Amino acid sequence: MAITPAGVFELNRAGHEVFVQAGAGAGSSINDADFAAAGATILEGPDAVWAAGDLILKVKEPIAEEYGRMREGQVLFTYLHLAASKECTDALIDRKVTGIAYETVELPDRSLPLLAPMSEVAGRLAPQVGSYHLMRSGGGRGVLMGGVPGVYQAKVVVIGAGVSGMNAAAIALGMQAEVLVLDKNIARLRAADADYRGHLQTIASNAYEIEKAVIDADLVIGAVLVPGAKAPNLISNELVSRMKPGSVLVDIAIDQGGCFEDSRPTTHADPVYRVHESMFYCVANMPGAVPHTSTYALTNVTLPYALELANRGWRDAVLADPALALGLNTHGGHVTYGPVAEAHGMHA
Ligand code: NAD
Repeated sequence: MAITPAGVFELNRAGHEVFVQAGAGAGSSINDADFAAAGATILEGPDAVWAAGDLILKVKEPIAEEYGRMREGQVLFTYLHLAASKECTDALIDRKVTGIAYETVELPDRSLPLLAPMSEVAGRLAPQVGSYHLMRSGGGRGVLMGGVPGVYQAKVVVIGAGVSGMNAAAIALGMQAEVLVLDKNIARLRAADADYRGHLQTIASNAYEIEKAVIDADLVIGAVLVPGAKAPNLISNELVSRMKPGSVLVDIAIDQGGCFEDSRPTTHADPVYRVHESMFYCVANMPGAVPHTSTYALTNVTLPYALELANRGWRDAVLADPALALGLNTHGGHVTYGPVAEAHGMHA
């Protein structure tokens, strides 16, 4: 769901009419009544909402059955991932939609403010799903994350000390596991060390240290990102064969191809599979498991931009904010974002 009752209230207060599709919040455990109480007009069915809105807020890119509902001049603010879909790119161009993509809004320090909450959610979920699968009933070696007094804690290895990795580490530490974090970027490790003052082991990432850490681990969480590239392959099949039987590997980086050799995308319905004697969890859309939290996390960061788009109109809003300007992917029948144009052999 792309908006919360608080978002409806804010937009309404700024003088905008807000239309919400009936039942759209159900998956995120938000009722139509709560949206209506915040000032939304509830409309039946997607056709009515697409027809009513000048600015459309969504979570995911439009699917084929939605293409026909888009109309010229409409502004679409959502995750678009157009480099991965020529079909969706063509649809936005044909319909002359102004497409502003959450994932390419970029701050001057090169961080991606509308992707960060999803990494926070995936990172915090990783020890939760990992600890579940470490239980015997979950397929794992039957280890309790925090141990108990007199018994060793679980050993958790987090590869990547970025947004998702440090959120994973925070939760694993909260569960009283022993946590080791590896990163190639020493500045990230310095920050982690300063934050946790000795409660967390930081190690410079290289093949030798990864092998040493992984052999000894109960739970490994892969949380690396190399911007603009496929995830590096950091744990081979052969290394997994030498891991503890019943150990668990969670590959958060699966949406970029995964950072373990045997990673392949799984779903919430069937999230794990066995490699040698270890369990792999590779769900590409981890935030989808906790849609209530994810909706609030996402809308906390999108709402300020949505308000600017509604208040100023998209043109003045992107002129006023270079970060939002980088979100502009299509306009007036053209691709306006370089990497998307490049991916499809077009000119931006
Ligand atoms: P980030 O940029 O904040 O952090 C990535 C870290 O990986 C950086 O600190 C970088 O230095 C480090 N790194 C790169 N190569 C490394 C190596 N060889 N060894 C150790 N560390 C290395 O990225 P993020 O926001 O935490 O995202 C991580 C991944 O999670 C991305 O691929 C992202 O798309 C993905 N993600 C997946 C889901 C999901 O549902 N599965 C959800 C959100 C994000």
